[in-house]
Amino acid sequence: MLKINEIYHSIQGESTSAGKPCVFVRLTYCNLRCTYCDTEYAFYDGKDMSVQQVIDEVEKYNCKLVEVTGGEPLVQMEECLELMNKLCDLAYEVMIETGGSLSIKEIDPRVNIIMDLKCPSSEMEKKNLYENVQYLKPIDELKFVIGNREDYEWTKTILDKYNLYGKCEILFSAVFGELEPVQLVNWILEDKLDVRFQLQMHKYIWHPETKGV
Ligand code: SF4
Repeated sequence: MLKINEIYHSIQGESTSAGKPCVFVRLTYCNLRCTYCDTEYAFYDGKDMSVQQVIDEVEKYNCKLVEVTGGEPLVQMEECLELMNKLCDLAYEVMIETGGSLSIKEIDPRVNIIMDLKCPSSEMEKKNLYENVQYLKPIDELKFVIGNREDYEWTKTILDKYNLYGKCEILFSAVFGELEPVQLVNWILEDKLDVRFQLQMHKYIWHPETKGV
């Protein structure tokens, strides 16, 4: 059984699939507590569903892009891996959004992994599982959510230290309400970084605190 917080159909707000219609499967629980978390409602609430029940629900939307998210979906590792594997078998384009503190080693290679490495201002930096970077594939995306200049400098250090440029897509986001997007963009341009800046599109389409979008 999986504990599922919500399943809904919306527009993908982040990543290189931003703007595409997508079904989101939000799993309950998270092992982290980031300072800027906007999905605290997924920490505990949810209902028990079998993998097949989740697939049945996803199929109702007639949409081939599916994102498995949380909370932290890999807290429910075994069933989460099974769900993604079965969705891939059914020819869904599957993405997972994970916080980077739990192993991504066993994820089906057909899945597009969007993995965070948590910056210092999240106060979860010490939870980063750096061995995960060796499992990132060219189709995957590594995301840094940057709240201030210290986070930005830290991110550059990590990208160099682990030789991450060119390994996969590198995404830079500004913490919503903390760092002005224009400031982050200016830093990227000044330093000529080969990264992709992104906005959380859904926070501009809907009110930033709207759930289920
Ligand atoms: S990993 Fe995501 S869901 Fe978990 S506390 Fe951090 S921002 Fe919230």
